[in-house]
Amino acid sequence: MSAQPSNMPELTEALSRTLAVAEFSPDGILVAANGNYRTLLGYEDDAILGRTHRSFCDPSYAASNAYTEFWQSLVNGHPLIGAICERQRRDGSPCWLGATFTPIFDSQQRVHRIVKVALDITERQQQWLSQNEHARQLALAADTTDSGVVIVDNDGSIHYVNAGFIRMFGWGPDEIAGRTPAALLGSRLSEAFIQPFRAELMAGTTVRREEILTGKNGQRSWVNVVVNPILDLDGNLSKTISVLTDITHVKMYEVLQQRALEAMAREEPLQQVLNMVCLEIERILPDVTASIQMLDDQGHLQPLASPSLPPEYWQLFENCKIGPEAGSCGTAAYRGEPVWTPDIATDPLWDEWRHMVLPMGYTACWSTPILSSDRQVMGTFAFYYRKAVEPDSFQQQVITACVHLCMVAFERERARQRIQQLAFYDSLTGLPNRRMLLERANHEITTLIGKSYQLAVLFIDLDRFKQINDSMGRAVGDELLREMANRIRTQFPASDLISRLSGDEFVAVLPRCSDGILLAAVTQLQETLSQPCRLAETCLMPSATIGIAVFPADGRNMETLLQCAEMAMYQAKTAGRGQYGFFNGQMSLLAQKKISLEAALRDAIRTGSLCLHYQPQVSLEDRHLYGVEALARWFHPELGMIPPSQFIPLAEECGLTAELGRWVLHEACRQLGEWQSRGLTVPSVSINLSPTSFRDPDLPQTIARTLEDHALPAEKLTLEVTEGVLLEANSGVLKTIKEVTALGVRLSVDDFGTGYSSLSYLRRLPVSELKLDRSFVADLAHDKAASALSAAIMGIGQSLNLTLIAEGVETEEQSRILAEQGYGIAQGYLFSPALPPKEFEHWIEQVTGSITPA
Ligand code: C2E
Ligand code: CA
Ligand code: CA
Repeated sequence: MSAQPSNMPELTEALSRTLAVAEFSPDGILVAANGNYRTLLGYEDDAILGRTHRSFCDPSYAASNAYTEFWQSLVNGHPLIGAICERQRRDGSPCWLGATFTPIFDSQQRVHRIVKVALDITERQQQWLSQNEHARQLALAADTTDSGVVIVDNDGSIHYVNAGFIRMFGWGPDEIAGRTPAALLGSRLSEAFIQPFRAELMAGTTVRREEILTGKNGQRSWVNVVVNPILDLDGNLSKTISVLTDITHVKMYEVLQQRALEAMAREEPLQQVLNMVCLEIERILPDVTASIQMLDDQGHLQPLASPSLPPEYWQLFENCKIGPEAGSCGTAAYRGEPVWTPDIATDPLWDEWRHMVLPMGYTACWSTPILSSDRQVMGTFAFYYRKAVEPDSFQQQVITACVHLCMVAFERERARQRIQQLAFYDSLTGLPNRRMLLERANHEITTLIGKSYQLAVLFIDLDRFKQINDSMGRAVGDELLREMANRIRTQFPASDLISRLSGDEFVAVLPRCSDGILLAAVTQLQETLSQPCRLAETCLMPSATIGIAVFPADGRNMETLLQCAEMAMYQAKTAGRGQYGFFNGQMSLLAQKKISLEAALRDAIRTGSLCLHYQPQVSLEDRHLYGVEALARWFHPELGMIPPSQFIPLAEECGLTAELGRWVLHEACRQLGEWQSRGLTVPSVSINLSPTSFRDPDLPQTIARTLEDHALPAEKLTLEVTEGVLLEANSGVLKTIKEVTALGVRLSVDDFGTGYSSLSYLRRLPVSELKLDRSFVADLAHDKAASALSAAIMGIGQSLNLTLIAEGVETEEQSRILAEQGYGIAQGYLFSPALPPKEFEHWIEQVTGSITPA
């Protein structure tokens, strides 16, 4: 282009078609211009010729030194390449040129023309300008917001920060200049942060992230970072404008909710969950001290969680009655609405309490009642303040959320207590029932095995109770039972186990007791129980007979001990009322019989004189066959049919359970395989395994092999275990359980609801089925507690997505109630008892025959 255009006509021609070309004299007069140049500046005619270069420029620029220097440099022979110039069109509107100015020399090497070749870049330039304007406006807006804004140059250094940034992170403007965001915020907001998103940023896409950033003084905050890319004319990333919003509060609050709900799911104790909630809140809101109280049945508030208040302080609040002027909490609970006390020192609500709380520096209190889902007050949630500031909207939000969390926690606790109460306590006396007694006593016994302690079981039977009940009425009878229960309860330390078995039978278990203590306790008890008792205007003279059995001499499990103690009680009754007696070996032939039975059982397992009966499990909806439970039967040549309730405990006592379990497994699988090969559809078989079976590390392998031998898929086998197995699962047992279920074999919890347990194992272990214990089903139609319990168990099952099977269904009414409660599968005499294989086959034929007409 430095050649003289007139010398190269073709080139001039070609350039002229695409570019704007003009020639100026050294004094700036336009001497020639092609069509493009004229169009660009808005001249269709020759009026353009003779105008000065200066006249195309913005007047202030044209008048400036910069302009004079620019032109002079050209006249001095220096070309100017790639300049971006703003010019004015004929109508005064601006246009932009990307231009090259080339001085042309004459033969004396003097500049005699200046050729300008230009390209119209108005559109591109305007785009760029508007982008810059956008950035400017962003920055302007930014200064007035709380968000931090930071503009980072292409080289990674900070170009600009707004006031919000300075407030947020504490760095002064001088400390920021030239540094990188990473150096200031210890974050990944640097190259490393941007790198993965560079492609997105280059494409002009905004990138969003949540980051934890550190300020000047080490304070950390959770920040929402939005990075906006600014591209230059050539599409390269020239800078980024990032907007940083502090979301620490929101985030912490999310975390709080999540942590509290997780803790509840893990069944952590209520108090622990709520303490954690309080501490988290205090982290989010450093100006408040949180406190949670629970309303008890007597209408008193009880402190439950206030980890930051000293115990001496919140103990003062124990048993606080609620009322119209009972501090912030007592009043909030009374009114059922929040109470705000900005000045404890003067508020009459606090007259009775202020002397306790002012010395601790608290001057204000906000309390909100915690309502149940049916709008009953369950407790209060309070914030104490050292400085009175009415809760702002964020605090309000936290309060609302926490009150809700407390509600969930309280309701869960109530449900848990209710299930516990229904399942394990006698509703008349409030004493533990038989189930709880057996469970706890057996547990106690296991702790005594191998030690030299004894444990005494007292079987207490009231004398003449039936007569009293019949002659004075049931109400008086119940009253007497309650009175006796109280006397027994107060007689023994809380560590002893007291229970009402049924009717007028009570049991006391005295662990670790010597003969001397035992005798003293028994005589003292009889003395207490025979005190006169005024009921219904009558003075009764009650008395009780007590039978005593002792571990380990009389038995090694609670079932046996109870039988012995009962026998001892009957024996004692023969001597008159108000007596007591010890079990002795001659009392029955039981012990004798046991030894010969043991040998026979050993034999039976080995020679195969045991057999399995099969009880169908059916769908309540259409009664189709869901599966079968295999139940062991023992036919003794002399004694006849011995029920499993007798020989299973016997097998346990003489260490035969594992062997029995293996036999049942093989036999059930063999039978199912046979049915399968004959085309009889039995969807699955459940077998009962004792805890001992799970202590056998080879169990998974045995099961896998047995299934294979009979060509059965693992899903066809279900193992029924009692809760005890799952609860006490040590790591070995746990491993076995997991390996077994990993095969695809299903795990079912038998007699569900009777174990004295928490339910947390249901989440931890691969359980797929619960069997509602038949004792609940039996009481379903006439006992509210039983139906509440079966409904509660249904709820548990549904929430954990487990199959529920109701056992022992004998009547249509039970079946209807269960179906209404959502039970899908049932088992019981209503459908069929456990049947020998042949009879079971007939049963199937009948049932399928009746469902699908032949
Ligand atoms: P389970 O596992 O709870 O078995 C259910 C029991 O309820 C069976 O008693 C069954 O015959 C009975 N039953 C079924 N439907 C009804 C009904 O409608 N009403 C009533 N009242 N009872 C019904 P069974 O066969 O006498 O077994 C008693 C217990 O012996 C079983 O209770 C189980 O714990 C144990 N058992 C039975 N077979 C085996 C076995 O092979 N191995 C082990 N370890 N235990 C077994
Ligand atoms: Ca069972
Ligand atoms: Ca059962």
